[in-house]
Amino acid sequence: MFKAKAYSAASATSPLAASTIPRREPTETDVQIEILYCGICHSDLHYARDEWHGVMPAVYPCVPGHEIVGRVARVGSAVTKFKPGDLAGVGCLVDSDHACPSCREGLEQFCPNMVLTYGSPDKHLGGVTYGGYSDSIVVDERFTLRVPFHLPLAGVAPLLCAGITTYSPMRRFGVGKGKKVGVVGLGGLGHMGVKHAHALGAHVVVFTTSPGKREDALRLGADEVVVSRHADEMNKHAGSFDFILDAVAADHDINAYIQLLRRDGNLTLVGAPEKPLAVAAFGLLFGRRSLSGSLIGGIPETQEMLDFCGAHNITADVEVIPIQKINEAYERMLKSDVKYRFSIDMASLKSE
Ligand code: NAP
Ligand code: ZN
Repeated sequence: MFKAKAYSAASATSPLAASTIPRREPTETDVQIEILYCGICHSDLHYARDEWHGVMPAVYPCVPGHEIVGRVARVGSAVTKFKPGDLAGVGCLVDSDHACPSCREGLEQFCPNMVLTYGSPDKHLGGVTYGGYSDSIVVDERFTLRVPFHLPLAGVAPLLCAGITTYSPMRRFGVGKGKKVGVVGLGGLGHMGVKHAHALGAHVVVFTTSPGKREDALRLGADEVVVSRHADEMNKHAGSFDFILDAVAADHDINAYIQLLRRDGNLTLVGAPEKPLAVAAFGLLFGRRSLSGSLIGGIPETQEMLDFCGAHNITADVEVIPIQKINEAYERMLKSDVKYRFSIDMASLKSE
């Protein structure tokens, strides 16, 4: 065991603060990564403030962070994919049972024994796993990903969650040329969804509550932008979408989007608001529309997404911050005041 620097929250109401956490010595299949950048996902905030208490109660102290990019520092004797000095990425998962039907299909995110990067029981050290707001992490090589090395790393980090969470349902529902695709909420996830849908060749419409994001949405790859608070703008698109991705972090009216789907169209929720959303049955009945959810992505698809982003030069648009600004960043994220993902420069942790 060795000690790592980190930022952690001591309770649902305390700010994140500098602390020290234990990390295991790499086992023979482990990779030890010196973390260079870690994105800030809205899930980090939901979790640190225990907003998902009913589903995933937070355990304190908690160290969030699951959009990790870094440099390999050490590898175990049986590691074959990585060597010291390589770049590597870690997303929301650090282990699973490797034996269940989901694992066998490369859908580790649905393994009943999956280990999340933070807040899951840690079978090596006891307690719970600690995430990427830290200077290092030790992860089984099977959950360590190759990242595109020619792209700016601060913008690569968010691909490990925001990137895969938006890519996976788009691939599943056949987003591509000739498809009309909506993205609701231009935040960290939403802006990645726009980039993927555009790169896949779809006609992309962004729905935003922020009129000030219109120009950005077009620059990011949208073909049209709808300010969702304007009913007339919304109604123009009634019954026309093949697929809509909803990446909103707060309570909102999803029926307004369901009625924009064409026959057999699908709306997939990736946003995880604290409170349940109300669904009007008739919106689904008429047009045989469907409502789905999607959770991050498995390891093979995450690697596919990283390779896709490498080939299309796709990264997140980031505002790089020192870790000392983390609490301010959380408040700004709540106000949708970030273009479009915070990425922590972990060099800033050295001075703690
Ligand atoms: P984010 O950066 O805060 O973006 C959320 C966006 O939602 C905002 O930028 C805003 O876009 C819109 N929004 C915020 N409040 C709203 C309101 N009251 N009504 C309507 N729209 C509102 O968050 P994120 O990191 O992208 O995460 C989004 C959600 O996805 C979170 O709940 C997160 O926990 C969840 N998530 C799920 C998965 C998964 O696997 N399913 C993975 C990661 C994250 P506009 O300004 O454009 O309206
Ligand atoms: Zn996330």
